[in-house]
Amino acid sequence: MAVPKRRQSNSRTGRRRSHDALRPKQLGWCPNCRRALPTHVVCPSCGYYMGRRVMEVAEEAKR
Ligand SMILES: [Zn+2]
Repeated sequence: MAVPKRRQSNSRTGRRRSHDALRPKQLGWCPNCRRALPTHVVCPSCGYYMGRRVMEVAEEAKR
């Protein structure tokens, strides 16, 4: 079986991991109630998606 000849340097490991950091999820707004909301998601406070009501929302969830 092939095996590494040399230990990988800390610098090389760090360079590879320089792309591993996670970024916060991009947020948009519900056009119906202006609530902050991830994109392509049904609004949990008014139940609207693509300008149309697609889901019933419980009264205590509405604010
Ligand atoms: Zn909404």
